[in-house]
Amino acid sequence: MLSHHQMISRRLLLSIAGVTVLSTGACGPPAGNPSDASHSGPPSDTLPSAAKPDGAPGAHPAPAASRTGSPAANTPGPPPGPAKPQPVTDPLLELDASERTIALTLDDGPHPTHTPVVLELLRSHGIRATFFLIGENAAEYPALVRAIAGEGHHIGNHTWTHPDLRHLPEPQVHDELERTSDLLQGLSGRPVTWFRAPGGDWADVTLRVCAELGMRPMGWSVDPRDWDRPGTAQITSRVLEGVRPGSIVLNHDGGGDRSQTVDALHTYLPALLADGYRFTTPQ
Ligand SMILES: [Zn+2]
Repeated sequence: MLSHHQMISRRLLLSIAGVTVLSTGACGPPAGNPSDASHSGPPSDTLPSAAKPDGAPGAHPAPAASRTGSPAANTPGPPPGPAKPQPVTDPLLELDASERTIALTLDDGPHPTHTPVVLELLRSHGIRATFFLIGENAAEYPALVRAIAGEGHHIGNHTWTHPDLRHLPEPQVHDELERTSDLLQGLSGRPVTWFRAPGGDWADVTLRVCAELGMRPMGWSVDPRDWDRPGTAQITSRVLEGVRPGSIVLNHDGGGDRSQTVDALHTYLPALLADGYRFTTPQ
């Protein structure tokens, strides 16, 4: 298994010469699915007022970014069908570094406590991010999925149950991804065009199924290992010291207590903006 993982990592490194990437085990252990029941009250209590069903007639916010392959996205009625099949590619690990642009990605949500706080923070700074959602969490908190989409963020697929896909037979991998895309597309009204494997553990089967379902794989280049709760100061410094133009930053708003991550975001987002960085959502 180790050699297989090394093979995958080497392939990723080769595909983006000169880029240092991928610590293993990031994005939380497979069992790190949000199961903490510490939240109180229904999640809709904490939703931002701007939240609304994206697919409602005439209510589509229409961010230019998510239109690809969605001819029906502007029309009222049922959600669009799945995105068109894509060629099999290695995961995107960094953006074009020619501009001082970075991407913030948030995994393992939606979370009833942390996601609304993150949404409010992003709104206050005018930042758009990509949220890689777990299907069973999205099913439990559909209003949060609509809130994320309604504020113009991108929604990516992060499987239904957050398993280690390397140990699943292909039909199960397909089911994990397809079921999640179907739900997210139904809730957001947009095709889901990005996928991230739990733990960044990519296998050939995963990449192939991802492409079949019309998604591209996205990794990351800056991992502060916030899922391990190293402390707010550590998360903040790891991001600020690791970021460079084109970085894709990995953080988590779900998967357990993410208060350290949320506190770090409050510090490092304005710091990066003051340093001249702009945030984008990969197309
Ligand atoms: Zn994850």
